Amino acid sequence: MSSNLLLKKVVEAITLAECNLPPDVENIIRRAYETETEMGKAQLKAILENVRIAREMRAPICQDTGLFSYYVEIGDDFPIRASKIKKVLIDATVEATRSIPLRPNAIDVLTEKNTGNNVGQGIPDISWDHVDGNTLRIAVLPKGGGSSYVAKLHSIPPAKGLKGVVEAVIRSVFDAGSMPCPPTFVGIGIGGTEDLAMKLAKKALLARMDENSKNEELAKLEREIVDKANSLGIGPMGLGGRWTIFNARIEWASRHPATLLTGVCFSCWALRKAFVEVSGDEIRVYQ
Ligand code: SF4
Repeated sequence: MSSNLLLKKVVEAITLAECNLPPDVENIIRRAYETETEMGKAQLKAILENVRIAREMRAPICQDTGLFSYYVEIGDDFPIRASKIKKVLIDATVEATRSIPLRPNAIDVLTEKNTGNNVGQGIPDISWDHVDGNTLRIAVLPKGGGSSYVAKLHSIPPAKGLKGVVEAVIRSVFDAGSMPCPPTFVGIGIGGTEDLAMKLAKKALLARMDENSKNEELAKLEREIVDKANSLGIGPMGLGGRWTIFNARIEWASRHPATLLTGVCFSCWALRKAFVEVSGDEIRVYQ
């Protein structure tokens, strides 16, 4: 496994994420279409047509091709060092921006200048997890600005417990309205510290969206949030309808006795993600 081959595979994964909606995401949109109102159906039909054209033309699903986050799970014995992998991810972002091409979205907050290649101070964002063994797994998550605009961190009085969590999430969905191009996928991070709650919320968007948590209590909470959010009637593109959110997925961490922090992170219907997995000589790019 060379750095060059890894770079090519990460560019392949970025291209897949940007131009091809993952099967779990597309499945749930198709399922929702069957039960949507006439007005909502028209929006979902346009979305599905957009997905088809993007796939056939190998063109980005949306003009906002997002800012990049990478989630890296690296084995202690993986042959390429973490610092080199970081360089690969940065170079792959630049190369994918040029070759697909992608809209450059990284703005220097001091000069207000666009860097022109989706790389800038702290961007792409790279999270690291270290595991035993010699494998590597990279998750690619480009995310548009419309859905990031409405992200929320809630500090809930711990005495309110999970009921307070549900209330806060539903309030966030209500406040977001049509801004994140609904129906959305909602990632929720419960507990931990303030930064961890948001990190978990975003990471929850990597979970399969046509499933719920394997933990029955969390799955129940996810379903309750979907039912309550959909009773708001915001609907596809905010024009009214049955589906305001497609699914909610939860990640959690232990909390401090005095806090119940809850991060809420939205993805629009265009939830773009892809994965690179390396094990020995085998390298796989998939969604
Ligand atoms: S919210 Fe999503 S679908 Fe809407 S403009 Fe942004 S990236 Fe595109």
